[in-house]
Amino acid sequence: MTAPRPALETAAMVRAGELSAVDVLEHHLAVIEAGEEAVHAFNLVTADQARAQARAVDATVAAGGDPGPLAGVPVALKDNLCTRGIPTTCSSRILEGWEPPYDATVVTRLAAAGAVAIGKTNMDEFAMGSSTETSAFGTTRNPHDTDRVPGGSSGGSAAAVAAGFAPLALGSDTGGSIRQPAALCGVVGMKPTYGTVSRYGLVAFASSLDQIGPFAGSVADAALLFDAIGGHDPLDSTSLNRPTPRVLTVLDDGVDGMTVGILTELLDGAAPDVAARVHQAAEALAAAGARVEEVSVPEVTLGLSAYYLIAPGEASSNLARYDGVRYGLRVDAEDTVAMNTATRSQGFGAEVKRRIMLGTYVLSAGYMDAYYNQALRVRTRIIEGFDTAYSRCDVLLGPTTPTTAFAIGAKVDDPLTMYLSDVCTIPSNLAGHPAISVPYGPGEDGLPVGVQLLGPALSEGTLFQVAAVVEGAAPPLAAPRVTTGGPA
Ligand code: GLN
Repeated sequence: MTAPRPALETAAMVRAGELSAVDVLEHHLAVIEAGEEAVHAFNLVTADQARAQARAVDATVAAGGDPGPLAGVPVALKDNLCTRGIPTTCSSRILEGWEPPYDATVVTRLAAAGAVAIGKTNMDEFAMGSSTETSAFGTTRNPHDTDRVPGGSSGGSAAAVAAGFAPLALGSDTGGSIRQPAALCGVVGMKPTYGTVSRYGLVAFASSLDQIGPFAGSVADAALLFDAIGGHDPLDSTSLNRPTPRVLTVLDDGVDGMTVGILTELLDGAAPDVAARVHQAAEALAAAGARVEEVSVPEVTLGLSAYYLIAPGEASSNLARYDGVRYGLRVDAEDTVAMNTATRSQGFGAEVKRRIMLGTYVLSAGYMDAYYNQALRVRTRIIEGFDTAYSRCDVLLGPTTPTTAFAIGAKVDDPLTMYLSDVCTIPSNLAGHPAISVPYGPGEDGLPVGVQLLGPALSEGTLFQVAAVVEGAAPPLAAPRVTTGGPA
């Protein structure tokens, strides 16, 4: 098996007229055809629309034009990104039959950059979960071992890239949903600084935490995708109105003179084989010229508790709109309240209901101060803790997840254990900071380990610089078992 062709190379060849976007697409559709039954990465493959996009790219090249930096590169979209006229389900029954009347800004930007949207990927329902098992449409399987979860909530996007179904994918990360599945599937995944990528057209889970970001087979391809989607958008009121860091141009700048802090709290609960990989990555950075030291940010240990008050609180409010009137499913009943109740009872799965109830409780008049407001104070403390660390360090290093991919079914009956899979990723969301997961060889079970680099707001350039060095030193990982990928 040959390695899949990098997106950077595909785009360059398509732009130069050496490779046709239609051929690239047909190759990936064939890979999907061969492997999708085993993996179930997609809720929908949009082959016809993709063919039209690919033909348009080829026509632009034939006419002497430039389709853009992602020319002809297939991109898989998480199914909580609005696509005009194409079902967008959030892997929930409650959105059954709904077709958004508009495209998310990231979808528009991808098209403008010449990318080809190949389909909508499976996810945990409304992005609530860490394994893609809360999807109403069946679980996605890890291409490295189909008895294991791909992680979540963007498990379909991570699996699609790992299996060679698409060179690039987009996901959303509220508490780790890009980085955690990236780690478990052996691909690169990055959560940008809050406000650098427009959330316009991203179906809201917890609006103060949600952020869209790239999945790719390499750090350079993730950089290519981030550069294409980032930047101010007047349609998102939380979009930062200042220059977004460009990252593709800094990949070769190295780590000489940088200070890297090993974030000790993130190693505390990590399995020994995962912790060992983090230490190896630290040694590689030291060998490349960085100063490496251990750093403690005790406040991050409070992150998980604060997150499970803030995120459900915001979710309970955001999900109030699914009332049987405005979107998707309606279950008829004798009056409006009964219809509303029947629709929500049938339309939402158990995990979403749990979050809505938790969130409603922590926002209720009698408990708001004790829970929600207290969690906001903890959030501020976490930001202050990171500030102190970043006064000494350029970036922090830790595991992305405490373990490699766990077995399908292993944690579904124990929500708290499931929530703990995000213990290493949640602090960056609470702080609004960027972080990236880079594959770093196999764990003891042969499955991928991801190491995580964390930085202060708008440090994407530095993160990608360091990530490139980590990637260059990473021990090899066996190819996924499910894939027939390879150059088109
Ligand atoms: N697993 C976490 C949760 O269930 C994070 C999900 C996410 O980032 N969307 O809330």
